[in-house]
Amino acid sequence: MSEITFQDLALADPIQRALKAKGYTTPSPIQAKAIPVLLEGHDLLACAQTGTGKTAAFALPVLDGFARNPRKPFRRGVRCLILTPTRELAVQVTESFKTYGEGLGLKVGMVFGGVSERPQIKALYGGLDILVATVGRLLDLKQQGHIDISQVDTFILDEADRMLDMGFIRDIQKIAAAIPQQRHTLLFSATMAPEITKLANGLLHNPKEIRIAPQGTTAEKIDQHVLFVKKADKQNLLLDLIQEHQANANNQELSLVFSRTKHGAKNLARKLCSLGIEADSLHGNKSQNARQKTLDQYKKGEVRVLVATDVAARGIDVKNITLVINFDLPMESDAYVHRIGRTARAGTSGKALSFCSEDEVALLREVEKLIKRSVPVYSHEYHAAQIEHHHTSGAPAQKPKQGGGGGGRGGNRGPRGGGGGARGPRGGGGGNSRGGPRKSNPNGPRGGGGGKPRSAGASGSSPRPQTASTASSGGNSGQRSNRSRGRNR
Ligand code: AMP
Repeated sequence: MSEITFQDLALADPIQRALKAKGYTTPSPIQAKAIPVLLEGHDLLACAQTGTGKTAAFALPVLDGFARNPRKPFRRGVRCLILTPTRELAVQVTESFKTYGEGLGLKVGMVFGGVSERPQIKALYGGLDILVATVGRLLDLKQQGHIDISQVDTFILDEADRMLDMGFIRDIQKIAAAIPQQRHTLLFSATMAPEITKLANGLLHNPKEIRIAPQGTTAEKIDQHVLFVKKADKQNLLLDLIQEHQANANNQELSLVFSRTKHGAKNLARKLCSLGIEADSLHGNKSQNARQKTLDQYKKGEVRVLVATDVAARGIDVKNITLVINFDLPMESDAYVHRIGRTARAGTSGKALSFCSEDEVALLREVEKLIKRSVPVYSHEYHAAQIEHHHTSGAPAQKPKQGGGGGGRGGNRGPRGGGGGARGPRGGGGGNSRGGPRKSNPNGPRGGGGGKPRSAGASGSSPRPQTASTASSGGNSGQRSNRSRGRNR
């Protein structure tokens, strides 16, 4: 957080009151830098780490503009248009505008796909001050004549890099062409890849540039580790870690597990539930309403573990997530930064544990290349030394096929505690398939309460610093995919 306060930023009184009610006193670095620039009316190109408070960085100046210069909504019209890559982020951004702008009486709406168009069309009819939209639904509604963007005066692209990843470049350009050239344009991106610069050059006029963290930097407060593990042991390792976290964490703390596939997310959540853990899944096969319901329950703490695909890598802003587990490493390394950024939000700390099986060594190397450091190794009962050796040796590695990741084996490893695992019987053959306190494992240092996985530093098997100089062997390097891939998560 910075030295200045929100009072210093001269935002309109109702906004100051809303910030006070929310408990915000000090602007985050992105807010301290962006808000004055935006209040002066400059276009902005901002590169900010996930969880840095970037939503308020653009929402507060927009709201201030409405407070000082109210404009009457007109039929089907919109004044401020914000594009987001995902529905979840659209919901979150909309909530932020409503919260920060509470005393202003503005009409704030959102449109996104996957739900009925009708209520959205109805809300658009009388016109809106602020509309948060995903690209596809916005264009659909525009083509049907339900929305008029010809008088948009503020155009914001949130998480632009993600929108490009999802193949929306042409749609963004189509939208930009339909709104006036004379406008205030803001582009926020977690990374400043060359494609982003190119997009910015086409959309922004003499923008001020703000970079809060260099590309690929992961939040400093996140305690990151990698756990080398055979694919077949991933599920048991996950269950150990979750049970351990639940045993140690206060009951408000949440964990978020990322699976590469929708199917895997569903199976893992089911498995956790079968062990008495309050878990649910979030993925692209669920209806939008079901996804929102799951998220609401998670936010309230009714669901303690959420197993998600990358739909949740960016959109989720939930305060109490203290543990993120990458059950599968992401196919694209920048997703790693976003995934783990779901913890340690707004200055708090958190832990990120990433499983790495034999076929994920190449992905780990790409992550390390992106974040420009090696991820410390975490010792645990299922540690697979040969995979660690493969990683450290720099021997060639292939990326797994898209969608072929883990996500659990549907429990086909047999009941926990019943034996049969690669490391011998777990729980001493007590048949403890329902979880709860397990009996000690004769093979490991685990006590009856679940045995804390030894952190590399504490156990003497020290973190193995190593940079992945041979990254990305075998994989096709980062060509951006088509739209359907983004939607299919
Ligand atoms: P964002 O990066 O916009 O998703 O914000 C991350 C989190 O930080 C959200 O939970 C915000 O509510 C919170 N936040 C944003 N700005 C501040 C601030 N100035 N003080 C405290 N919390 C903040």
